[in-house]
Amino acid sequence: MNTPTTLWQRQLAEAFSSVDALCRHLQLDSSSLPLLPQFKDFPLRVPRGFVDCMEKGNPFDPLLRQVLPVQDELQDFPGYSFDPVGDLNAVAQAGVIHKYQGRLLLICTGGCAVHCRYCFRRHFPYNDLQLSSQKMNQALDYIITRSEIKEVILSGGDPLLLSDAKLCDLLENISRIQHVQRIRIHSRIPVVLPARITDKLLQTLASLPQQIVLVIHANHANELSSDVAVACQHLKQHNVTLLNQSVLLKHVNDNSNTLCRLSEKLFIFGILPYYLHSLDRATGVGHFEVSEQRAKQLIQSMQETLPGYLVPKLVKEQAGAAHKIRLA
Ligand SMILES: *Cc1c(COP(=O)(O)O)cnc(C)c1O
Ligand code: SF4
Repeated sequence: MNTPTTLWQRQLAEAFSSVDALCRHLQLDSSSLPLLPQFKDFPLRVPRGFVDCMEKGNPFDPLLRQVLPVQDELQDFPGYSFDPVGDLNAVAQAGVIHKYQGRLLLICTGGCAVHCRYCFRRHFPYNDLQLSSQKMNQALDYIITRSEIKEVILSGGDPLLLSDAKLCDLLENISRIQHVQRIRIHSRIPVVLPARITDKLLQTLASLPQQIVLVIHANHANELSSDVAVACQHLKQHNVTLLNQSVLLKHVNDNSNTLCRLSEKLFIFGILPYYLHSLDRATGVGHFEVSEQRAKQLIQSMQETLPGYLVPKLVKEQAGAAHKIRLA
């Protein structure tokens, strides 16, 4: 990795990568937890700002559960696989996933600021398929020659992990394509590393002729700190539309009060709830699954409590389908 130069890059370099250090910091006895012996493909990674939102001494903290590698990950669940949503079939060329009409997804990088244990792309072959600088022009050509593509979605990994120089260059290159009307960024970074929302990024986003949508990824109200509020406020001031998608996760947010609190806090931050995703069945994540029946009950209960615009759409991703599937 390059020498960190900016605040967010320093914070990223200082993220927890040792389970023992994290447990010590949280005043937890690591020997009493059902930990996975660390494995190198998908090690612990969690920025300190996110850890600051966890409750000390609580091994069941809903944020901790999202990042702590536990033995449950070794359990085999039927129907779970390495490519649960059919990403690999939809790879048009390196870095480009073209699955849905009018929208196309760029795999900007394989890296993330946080390693979420439930991640559906935790087995994705990023080394071959992420968008390296060499493959960038081919990806742009793919978009240029297809006038039906109205929206380009930056995904990953986490696209905001790119440096400002690379990211702004990419955004500007996409923005020059006439038929692209919207640019969407899917990122967990505004939540886990809000210092990444730099002035340079904000200036660039505001300067683009396209409408910009940023879909953040928060699963629990406790993730939404005052630093996150400031980053969101800056994004709003620069005309970025903010949406949230969550994943429904057992023992993290599978409770209607928890989900309602999340929606209400999102709205205070200027973010609209977009999707509540049912878990994608990637190997190693089955212990997070919530049944479809329970998911529908939760949405029903949210509908009874909240105004319609604060109830996210309950969806699942289905390999080969032309769009995400609504469950309720
Ligand atoms: C979710 C997703 C999109 C965007 O779908 P929307 O329903 O428009 O949010 C695009 N491409 C892929 C591969 C996706 O998984
Ligand atoms: S930020 Fe998204 S892509 Fe990265 S590990 Fe978490 S869920 Fe996976």
